Amino acid sequence: MSRILVVEDDTQIARALAINLKARKYDVDIAPNGSVALNLLAQRHSDAVLLDLGLPDMDGSAVIEGIRGWSDVPILVVSARHDGRDKIQALDLGADDFVEKPFAMDELLARLRAALRRSAGTSAQRADVARVSSGDGRLVIDLSATRVTLDGEPVHVTPIEWRILELFAKNPDRLISQRELLHRVWGPGYEGERHYSRVYISQLRQKLEDEPSAPRWFRTEAGMGYRFTPSDLSQT
Ligand code: CA
Repeated sequence: MSRILVVEDDTQIARALAINLKARKYDVDIAPNGSVALNLLAQRHSDAVLLDLGLPDMDGSAVIEGIRGWSDVPILVVSARHDGRDKIQALDLGADDFVEKPFAMDELLARLRAALRRSAGTSAQRADVARVSSGDGRLVIDLSATRVTLDGEPVHVTPIEWRILELFAKNPDRLISQRELLHRVWGPGYEGERHYSRVYISQLRQKLEDEPSAPRWFRTEAGMGYRFTPSDLSQT
């Protein structure tokens, strides 16, 4: 069964979409604004996103950029904006399709099925890593289960912390600049907010490292960024 995230602040449209999707056996999450949408996506897997562009807290284009920083989930824009430039911008940013409001439900569902088929085809070709473990096996980041464990015990992390862990797990041993981390976890426009990354990396070290001030796995490269070093052998 596919899970669809509906990002829509108009409650009538959101309800109509939810009813129609559920009638066709989709699971449905509804986000009334962009930040809830980004948080929901970080917390649980969605197979596709239906995205309104006019949202109360941020423009839908910023939501597309935020999602594309770390996810290939199909995004169908569902918008009353008929301006060609808005469509091009949405597609340039990584949206998969654009459906104009008012829309015919049958057409929208057909486009959704097509997007899900395309995505099933490409993900079968991807060799996604499902889990990353430290060399000593104590730390396990399980991307498929959205879970991190230390010494076999699940560790509670916030959605933002999870997105940082996910980025690290997909890029072990690679230097990730502070700008890239901020862009991919918080989204465009946050590249200069260095205190965000400092605070959250520090929280992760408190939760996962034996000595947070001398981290083994979540290292700072002075003046450059961070490096996740799961297979570090210096202390084993
Ligand atoms: Ca709207």
